[in-house]
Amino acid sequence: MICPKCSEPDAHRSHRQGLKDRVWGWFSMIPYRCKKCNIRYYAYQAGEKSDRMRTKEERRIMKIRRSLKWKRSRRELSLGALALVAFLISIYFLLQQTVPAGQ
Ligand SMILES: [Zn+2]
Repeated sequence: MICPKCSEPDAHRSHRQGLKDRVWGWFSMIPYRCKKCNIRYYAYQAGEKSDRMRTKEERRIMKIRRSLKWKRSRRELSLGALALVAFLISIYFLLQQTVPAGQ
């Protein structure tokens, strides 16, 4: 994370401590601490992805993570579709069996 004060990419997520951090947490604000100038600040969770706050390397890692996540959800989706098709086929055969013969 890039520090808003000294612009060094040396700020890291700080542990939540005390009531103030928890209150900020309700608004999706995460505490960060800069190792260079030692300031503590809060950053909006969604703002983590912004170019201003992230270094090039960090953004690259996040992009990879996002695509991995997408691949995983796509696999889950196709598995779900497969299960649905199998379910529909079994329903179809069950219905065929219950239809009285000679109708
Ligand atoms: Zn700093």
